[in-house]
Amino acid sequence: MKVYKFGGASVKDAAGVRNLEKIVRLAVTNDQRPTTNDLMVVVSAMGKTTNALERVVEFCAAGQEDKALNQWIDIIDFHVTIMKELGLQPGIDIRLHGEIPYDPACSFDENYDQIVSMGELLSTQIIAVYLLKQGLSVEWWNMPKLLRTDTTWREAVVDNETSRAVIRAGWDRPNRPTVVVAQGFIGGTADGKRTTLGREGSDYTAALLGNYLDAESVTIWKDVPGILNADPRLEPNTVLIPSLRYQDAVELSYSGAQIIHPKTIRPLENKQIPLYVKPFGDPTAAGSRIAADGVGPIDVPVYIWRKNQILITMRAKDFAFVLEESLSEIFDIIHRHRLKVSLIQSSAVTISVCVDNTRFVPAAIEELRVHFNVSYNDHLSLLTIRGTTPNILARAKAGRTIMLSQTTRRTARLVVKEED
Ligand code: ASP
Ligand code: MG
Repeated sequence: MKVYKFGGASVKDAAGVRNLEKIVRLAVTNDQRPTTNDLMVVVSAMGKTTNALERVVEFCAAGQEDKALNQWIDIIDFHVTIMKELGLQPGIDIRLHGEIPYDPACSFDENYDQIVSMGELLSTQIIAVYLLKQGLSVEWWNMPKLLRTDTTWREAVVDNETSRAVIRAGWDRPNRPTVVVAQGFIGGTADGKRTTLGREGSDYTAALLGNYLDAESVTIWKDVPGILNADPRLEPNTVLIPSLRYQDAVELSYSGAQIIHPKTIRPLENKQIPLYVKPFGDPTAAGSRIAADGVGPIDVPVYIWRKNQILITMRAKDFAFVLEESLSEIFDIIHRHRLKVSLIQSSAVTISVCVDNTRFVPAAIEELRVHFNVSYNDHLSLLTIRGTTPNILARAKAGRTIMLSQTTRRTARLVVKEED
């Protein structure tokens, strides 16, 4: 069996869904023994639906019911338009929710998961029904009932043992349809609440399903030709990297390459399942292949931007500064507040960490201030250049305000001020 993952951009309109059908049909009719045609199709929310649903949660939490409802109706309308263009009957073929699943007695984050998960539930229902109407053998899966997680709302931790057993049982059934359509990014708790795995988490779902079901490969269908050495929106001359090792892919995604979610590689590497990144606009193109036998190291300079960073610098409050002791204290606080560290630097009397500027940062800084003198700079980006040379580095630095830099012979990491 294979796993295909389609992101929001690939299913942002009716044409995208028709294109998905074309790609799925190619896979299930291309019988190449000894492999089977069985296909797990993992889908994200359509277009920018997740962002729109986040606004619904924010309006609800702020008590702005009219705004929340208007936003909700816009989201439903957007999906209804797509359904109609695909010849589906809203409300008959696909269930629509008139009410926002908001409970004022629950926390913001718990409500977030109940509401934001609707994007994937809608997209997958539309796609499953459409594929069925096109004559394919299809089943829709409800991941909140199958992918078991804890209750860490918005960043739920998957219980692999339970999930694997449930998902394998569902998959190994006799007479299961050839194609299964499942939501990426969402799961559920033991008591039936929906959870989400963190923004852009659909790739991770695809990797987990590939691992549970011993897939022969996992393919992520994207709006780019594969993994490129730079973001084509930022660099005019990009090249495709046709083959990578797992470790290179982990490093790229950790450095901020938007192409794959950082958690995606481990479940695949554990079972030696190759990962393909291919363009949904050109399904027979080779794209990029990530595997243990991939070619490495990458032989073109690779530019990776990690945006929205904050550089936090801690200084001892007195002279009794012991680096080792401070480190464990700092990283304990960082870990408890779920900060994502992108770079660390220390001197005799200071420690600086660059982290993603998430909603968890203010509380972490507050706690750090109990122990240290803390200063910070925000509106920063981290630029990682792999395969750098003195020339490349000089060019990258030109005209930019560099807050901090770390360079080794082949890799440069620059914390730079975001230009406004
Ligand atoms: N729909 C979710 C998001 O936009 C998950 C994903 O796209 O992977 O974050
Ligand atoms: Mg997405």
